Amino acid sequence: MYQKIPGTKDILPEEALKWQKIEELSRNVFSLYNYKEIRTPLIEEASLFNRSLGEASEIVQKQMFLINSAPSSNVTAHSVYGLRPEGTASVARSYIENNLDKTTGFVKLYYIGPMFRLERPQKGRLRQFHHIGVEAIGLIEPDLDVEIISLASMLLKEFSIEDYKIKINSLGCAKDKKELTDNLHKELKTKLDELCPDCQIRFKTNTLRILDCKNDICQKIIGNLNIKETYLCPECEAHFSSVKQGLDSLKITYQISPYLVRGLDYYTGIVFEITHPSLGALDALGAGGRYDNLIKELGGIDAGAVGFAFGIERLLITSNPKAQVPDKNNLVYIIPLGKEAKKQGLKLLDNLRREKIACDTDYENKSLKSAMRKANDLNAKLVLIIGEDELKKGVVTLKNMASGEQQEIKQDEIITALR
Ligand code: AMP
Repeated sequence: MYQKIPGTKDILPEEALKWQKIEELSRNVFSLYNYKEIRTPLIEEASLFNRSLGEASEIVQKQMFLINSAPSSNVTAHSVYGLRPEGTASVARSYIENNLDKTTGFVKLYYIGPMFRLERPQKGRLRQFHHIGVEAIGLIEPDLDVEIISLASMLLKEFSIEDYKIKINSLGCAKDKKELTDNLHKELKTKLDELCPDCQIRFKTNTLRILDCKNDICQKIIGNLNIKETYLCPECEAHFSSVKQGLDSLKITYQISPYLVRGLDYYTGIVFEITHPSLGALDALGAGGRYDNLIKELGGIDAGAVGFAFGIERLLITSNPKAQVPDKNNLVYIIPLGKEAKKQGLKLLDNLRREKIACDTDYENKSLKSAMRKANDLNAKLVLIIGEDELKKGVVTLKNMASGEQQEIKQDEIITALR
């Protein structure tokens, strides 16, 4: 009798209902935040992952499912395919290959689907597992990092998951990362023999990963190094501060975790991880961060990007999803004009989403005219404009896109008016 491969799972009908619920709740939240689905192939050229994740990353070193696409006598670098171990590299490849960088520019995408890693199976660690992920590509605005983390916490709220922790750090730009790596090299050189065998290898190939090694002895050595945020350059420091302020203003609780690094080459700037105590040793429900150099690295334009993924199996260990169906076709588009208006706009955006009103905003600081055009392209039903006049009067201008009618609404009456 055949048995399934270790580390894979059959999802029988009763359990599949829970999967459907998780997916439905996720799609509803994605439409609230105006993220659109992308589906990429399960197999890609293996070199895409080597290049994106890094030759020295654990996934590329040990966990890739490789497939020869040609007879074994005829194998070239291009004829080795890999089952995708994660979604970011494929989405980045697709963004470039389909010229989204040239046509659409800034995109907000999500995906739900299987990923494959040749790992030693255990509770919460499978060889075929499933991600719910998002990628916002085309901007370096810190507000987008905040939106992504707010989206992650909204998903957890919908899945009725509580008691989770959001840990956040900034790795800085490529230059900052190198400085940190060089410093670590210097500091750890004399303690190499005390590190665990994995970290002795990481010292040569992926030094930063030593920072978040789970081994007690390694953690103690790292703790004594006293690594702080001070290696960040002024721009990265400012970006990190903006993200923290944005999270504070949305009342999202987080923990600064200076040793959080993530093991992949493409990460730069903000990285974060969401953990839950019910998961035991493998406690990450999801993780993500910025990868501002990847699109260019893969042959596209110089485009900032940020994303994250939750593991569905781990969500299901932790959650008890309940049904909620928000309205998908009533997008409200907020157009803030100027810095102060933007702050208000972001708060309003958050309030509306909490009220299950699907909405989005202009993150690109467009002129009123081109932001209106964008609202039209997005098929928004209503537009809320916050300009200098509106700020002075404590109102917003509500425009009905179908009739063209406009009226001023007091700040505290917006939600009632929209209903
Ligand atoms: P990563 O791409 O490694 O940052 O993973 C993001 C999330 O996917 C993790 O927080 C887990 O929830 C989930 N995940 C990663 N690897 C596995 C695995 N082998 N089995 C089950 N879930 C996984």
